[in-house]
Order: sequence, then C-alpha cells, then structure tokens
Amino acid sequence: MALRSLRQRADLHGRRVFLRVDANVPLDGQAITDDGRIRAFMPTLEYLIAQGAIVLVASHLGRPKAPGDPAFSLQPVADRVALLVNAPVTFVPEVSGVEVWKALDDANPGDVIVIDNLRFDPRETASDETIRQELAGEWADHVDVVVSDGFGVVHRKQASVYELPGLRESYAGFLVEDEVAVASRLTTSPTAPYTVVLGGSKVSDKLGVIQALLPHADNILIGGGMVFTVLKAQGHAVGSSLLEEDMIDTVQAFLADAKQRGVRIEVPTDIVMAEGFLADAAWEVLPSSELEAGRYGAGAMGLDIGPESQAAFARIIQDSHTVFWNGPMGVFEFPAFAGGTRAVAEALTRVDGLTVVGGGDSAAAVRALGFAESDFGHISTGGGASLEFLEGKVLPGLEILGWTP
Ligand code: ADP
Ligand code: MG
Repeated sequence: MALRSLRQRADLHGRRVFLRVDANVPLDGQAITDDGRIRAFMPTLEYLIAQGAIVLVASHLGRPKAPGDPAFSLQPVADRVALLVNAPVTFVPEVSGVEVWKALDDANPGDVIVIDNLRFDPRETASDETIRQELAGEWADHVDVVVSDGFGVVHRKQASVYELPGLRESYAGFLVEDEVAVASRLTTSPTAPYTVVLGGSKVSDKLGVIQALLPHADNILIGGGMVFTVLKAQGHAVGSSLLEEDMIDTVQAFLADAKQRGVRIEVPTDIVMAEGFLADAAWEVLPSSELEAGRYGAGAMGLDIGPESQAAFARIIQDSHTVFWNGPMGVFEFPAFAGGTRAVAEALTRVDGLTVVGGGDSAAAVRALGFAESDFGHISTGGGASLEFLEGKVLPGLEILGWTP
C-alpha cells in the first residue's frame, strides 16, 4: 500500500496542521553549521503556508539530558525557518500545554509556530506506549491534520511519529514521499551496473544494509573505518586503525556470499596511514598489504583511502548507472584525510543515472566539501531510517501513514 499523500488533502485553509520534521541540525553553540535538514522540509512547509494552514512545526534536536537545556533549544531552528519562509514565525519554548494552544488560537491562516525540542518531554520517547499516547492525545486535541515529514525518525515508535498520526487524519510530507520513492528504486528496480559504496565508522552499523543490497548490487566498494575489519578478515595487518575484532567472522561470511553471487567487492589497494588520530598528524601512503611496514609501524592509523584506490573507485562509480553511497571514505572532518570522500563524491557527480547519498555524516560531508545538493540525484536526510528501509524493515512511522513494503 502506498503512503497517504498530502496532495490528496484538499482545503487546508485555516486548518491546524501538526508538521513533524527532522530539524536535528548540527550546531556550534547557537549557530547552525549545516541547515540541509531544514531546507529538506521547506517544500512541505511552503506548500502548507500557501494553502493557508496554521502550521505547528515540531522536531527533536540531539539528545537533551534535562528538559529545557538551552543547548538543545529549537530557537536557532525557528530563527532559520523564519529566514527561509515568507510567513510570520513564532517560537514557543514549550512542547505542549497552554502556551502552545494559545499560540494556535492567536494564529492566522499561513502562520507558522515552532515548538521546542520534542525530547524535552520524556513522553515523546517513552518506551511505554500509554505514556506516548498521553502526549500524542494532547496534541491531537488541538490540531486537525498531521503531516509527517521527518524521514530521519520514521523508524522510531515515538509519540509524534507513530501515536499522533494514528489519532488524526495524517499524511506523508513531500520529503518522506521522495525518500520512500528513491529508496524503493534502489531495492526494486536499480539500473545496472549498480554500485554500492560503503564507508563510515562501523561494519556492525551497516551489516543489515550490506546483506539487503547484496542480491541487487553488481559492485560493492568499501572504504572508511569499516574497511580495516574487512582487510583484517582478508588476512592483512591493519596497525592501530579502527577495527571490530568480533565482526571478522561475519565479514568473512559476507565476502564468501558475495563471491558466490558474483558480486564484485573492491577494497582499497592503498591507505593513508597516519601517526595518530589528529587533524595535523603526519602520514604516508602504504599498500594495503603492508600497513604496518611504514614509518609509524603497528601504531599507524588508516584515516583515508589512498590515491590509487580513489582512482579505481572513481572509475567503477562513473561506469555505473545506479550508485548508492553510505559512509565517508575517511576522516573527512580533517581536511588532510578528506581526499577519498571527495574523490567518491566527485565521481558520483559524473554518473549517468541515479545517485543516492545516504547517511547523516555522508550528507554533511558532501555539503562541507562544497558540493551542491543538485550534483546528486538524491541526498537522503535519514541515516538509520534509510538503512532500515533498505533492509526491508517495516518502519512504524511509515506504516501509520498507510505504507507497507
Ligand atoms: P553516515 O552517518 O554517513 O552513515 P557513519 O556515521 O557510519 O556515516 O561514519 C561517519 C564517520 O566515520 C565520520 O565521522 C568519519 O570521520 C568516520 N571515519 C571514516 N573513515 C574513518 C577511518 N578510517 N577511521 C576512523 N573513522 C573514520
Ligand atoms: Mg553517522
């Protein structure tokens, strides 16, 4: 069954719409360092404003330990929304309650109200369903329609994501619709050659998705921190690089499975080995079979894929018609070790076909490296959610909007 689309809902004029988004943006103090997640729900918000709805925008932000912790306030998000839309925006530093209801009563069609960090109310994420229902019920009493556009949280059973849409007329926003459409193409009808590029820190995070994509992919390219567990599984020494010792058996089984299916697995042939985990660490490039044979011996840490691997990966990517990329190739936060991530991103921009960047850090990386959103077919806003979707799991926040795999 398909998602209930917001476009099916006529006449929203003067209607109170609870718009759940994922505005979980990175912050440096009060400054938003990357507003990609806010821009991602703008089409839905602008549509609702144009329809004359009264829009209550709700999001979580980080993992606050105490309610009201100013470091996790949604004020900076409200300020940014106010800059981006042509409508009055009011920030109410509450999650529910009289202040919020009053703002709704005072609002005119086309007005936007941003409420505070949903996780300031422990009921939002309570494990007890009846507690979540209680919070959802409070919102449901004051709104007419619920629009779910926070793709990054649809894999969570939380009050605003799951219980609330079950209590009111509810629809998927445009972002959620797009994300689902693109992810569906990756699992049902990818045009060959289909290349999956995986990196990031941990194999254990990505194992489910690797297994789910294996039957569809022609090539799997592996870099990032997780590649050292793979290299180790292939019998190489990896120095002091990131390693998940307990995943080695699993990785060996996966390599065997890939071989049997005829999927080509590419690991880097050279690695940038650094003296330590530091932005200005000294480094050298070593062949993958000799990672402990360099200047820094067994203390060396692999922080990026080497130039030969970058070129090899780029060639395979450019010859593909479908590419899904999740996980940076190196510690891109340090400019000296961003080369692999940049090379992969650049190769994606040259693909004739569908390119999808998934994962929070990968999306942040391409923006930090100066690529434009439009250089890629799709940049997913959902890290865990897109991975779980690709794994074929039933996501509660989509199921409640009418969707089944
Ligand atoms: P995503 O959020 O895109 O799914 P992950 O969260 O899995 O990606 O991984 C991102 C992190 O992986 C980045 O912070 C990056 O610094 C780190 N990383 C990449 N390569 C390495 C490496 N060789 N050693 C240690 N960390 C790495
Ligand atoms: Mg991440």
